[in-house]
Amino acid sequence: MRDWPDSADLLTFYDHNARKMPWRVGPKERARGVRPDPYRVWMSEIMLQQTTVAAVKDYFERFTARWPTVSDLAAAEDSDVMAEWAGLGYYARARNLLKCARHVVAEHNGVFPDTVEALLTLPGVGPYTAGAVASIAFDQPATVVDGNVERVMARVFDIHTPLPAAKPELTEKAAAMTPQVRPGDYAQAVMDLGATICTPRNPACGLCPWRSACKAQAAGTAAELPKKTPKKPKPIRHGVVYIAKRVDGAYLLETRPDSGLLGGMLGWPGSDWTEGHAPKHDAPIKAEWKTLNTEAKHTFTHFHLRLTVKTALVPMDRKPSVGAFVLDEDYDSGNLPTAMRKAFDLYRGT
Ligand code: SF4
Repeated sequence: MRDWPDSADLLTFYDHNARKMPWRVGPKERARGVRPDPYRVWMSEIMLQQTTVAAVKDYFERFTARWPTVSDLAAAEDSDVMAEWAGLGYYARARNLLKCARHVVAEHNGVFPDTVEALLTLPGVGPYTAGAVASIAFDQPATVVDGNVERVMARVFDIHTPLPAAKPELTEKAAAMTPQVRPGDYAQAVMDLGATICTPRNPACGLCPWRSACKAQAAGTAAELPKKTPKKPKPIRHGVVYIAKRVDGAYLLETRPDSGLLGGMLGWPGSDWTEGHAPKHDAPIKAEWKTLNTEAKHTFTHFHLRLTVKTALVPMDRKPSVGAFVLDEDYDSGNLPTAMRKAFDLYRGT
C-alpha cells in the first residue's frame, strides 16, 4: 500500500473522466491553452453554494445568456435578477451576486482579482468561494474544501473524528495534497472523484485512482466515513400568507425587505414566522378571507415552515395597506421563491 495518494494519478483519471459542466473548461481544452472565464467560474460557485450541480445548470445557462459579462450583470435591474433567481433558494446569494458584480465593475474595472486575499474582499465571497475561484479560474494552488473533498479526505486518511469538528484536520490534509502542477484541474478532480466514485454510499473503490493509497479502503471503513455529529431536529415555524385576487385577475404582492429570509424577493403579504402559533397579524386588505384546509410546507436550512394560506377575492376599489396589485399578464408564479409558490399552488389547486 502506498503511504500517500499521488495527485498525478488523480489528474490522469480526471483527464479521462472529467464531468462536463457549462462553466467548466475541460482538461483537453485547458491543455490547449483555453482559460476559464473568472466571471463564469465565480457565478457557478455562488450558485453551487448549498445547491446541487443538477439544480444549478439551467439557472447558470439562463444567467450567462442574459448577462454574458460581469458588466452586463452589474447594470441589471435588481428585480430582474431576483426574478431570474427565483426557485434556486438562499436568496441572499442573489443579492450578493449583484453587489459583487457592481463592486468588481466599480472597484476593479470589471476584472476579477486573481488571489485568494483579494477575492475575499468581494461581497458574498467567503474562504471556500475565494479558494475555488483562485484555483479554478486562475490556477492558483489554493485549498478548496467542499463536502465532496471532506468525504474523500476523511476516507483516504481514515479520519474518524466526526464533522464538523474534523474540518480543520480535513482542510489541513486537503492543503497538503494540493499540487503546484495544475492546481485548478486538481481541485475539480477531487470534487469529481467525490461526486462520481467516492460517493456517500457505496463508493466505487474498484474504479478509484487512489485505491492503493486509501486507508479507509484498506481498513474497510470507507462506507462509514465521514462521521457526523447528529444534528438537532429542526424547529417548526408557523406563519400566515394572504393571497388576494382582485376581480380583474390582479394579485396583491409585496417585495420583501432586503434583510432577512427571502429578502428582496416578491411574496404574498403575511405575518412573521415564529415557533408555536403564527403571530397575530392584520390582513393586508379588507376582504372576506377564507382559510385553506391545508398548510403550505417548506423546509429551510434551519427550520421547517408551515404557512396558513388565506385567500380572498377583492373589488377594484379596495386599497391595500402593504404591497401592490400585479396585473395578471405581469404575474408569473415562477418569479416567486419556492415557499411562496407552494402557497400559490395550494390556492390554485382549490
Ligand atoms: S478507494 Fe474508495 S474510499 Fe478510498 S478514496 Fe477511493 S473511492 Fe473513496
